[in-house]
Amino acid sequence: MRSKPDDDGHKNRLKTGLYLVATPIGNLQDLSLRAHEILSNADIIACEDTRVTGKLLSRHAIDTSMKAYHEHNAEHARPALMKILSEGGAIALVSDAGTPAISDPGYRLVQDCIERSFDVTSAPGANAAITGLILSGLPTDRFLFAGFLPSKSGQRCKELAELAGVPATLIFYESAKRLAASLSDMAEQLGDRPAAVTRELTKLHEEIRRGSLAELAAHYRGAGAPKGEIVVVIGRPLKAAALSDEELDILISEGLKDKSLRDVAAKLAEETGLPKRQIYARALKISK
Ligand code: SAM
Repeated sequence: MRSKPDDDGHKNRLKTGLYLVATPIGNLQDLSLRAHEILSNADIIACEDTRVTGKLLSRHAIDTSMKAYHEHNAEHARPALMKILSEGGAIALVSDAGTPAISDPGYRLVQDCIERSFDVTSAPGANAAITGLILSGLPTDRFLFAGFLPSKSGQRCKELAELAGVPATLIFYESAKRLAASLSDMAEQLGDRPAAVTRELTKLHEEIRRGSLAELAAHYRGAGAPKGEIVVVIGRPLKAAALSDEELDILISEGLKDKSLRDVAAKLAEETGLPKRQIYARALKISK
């Protein structure tokens, strides 16, 4: 199988196999040196949208051929990719943004490669879920990535109800136009937990809005659908064994915006099961 010359005319041959290559989620500079090397030397780049990936490649002066591999042609395109591998080629798989195989059909290609004993490796990098999580300020020690929720409220509530007892921070991808409705359903099904709407990560208009689910829902109902791409991060169940100090502080601060110290302490004591005295003392500190 062909491989390309480097600047000095030497061949940079890649080992046969599938390379899962993470690409930026907004800022085109977020491409690792290794990702660049693999994309430059692969025989083919399998991508969701050749226009989107083409932009990245041209920004980084990479001229490797692309082949579309997305939700709608995955079944049809996979045999051709398998053929390239069986002839000794190297395929780089990328998604429109971030880590391939997360919320796209990439994992089926990985499965096929494993079944046929082709090497699968990765050049890890940007991912919207993890970036949203670490910027949310919510606990990162245990989390569950739940991808996209259904677009219809009934089904969405059903899925949320299934997740209500999970003792972990929850991460969702969400569309801007459904954001307010989804946040309302989340508050109803999960309780009014601390949460963060993380938007346009790594881009010019990056924004992290933190608050309780009900407050965030009210904000976006009033402000209308925001622009751009969104990850919603939600704290674990309030009555779970250990509510972190940071989570409690967020809830207290939000409560103090329109309630008295006494009312905030009473409400949170009921919701979290923590002693009212403890919450009152913390609220007193915060209010000072
Ligand atoms: N493979 C990607 C990854 O590693 O994050 C995710 C692909 S998924 C089809 C696309 C969704 O990811 C978007 O609808 C949005 O919810 C989220 N997303 C992608 N880029 C984002 C960004 N820059 N800021 C916030 N969310 C983003």
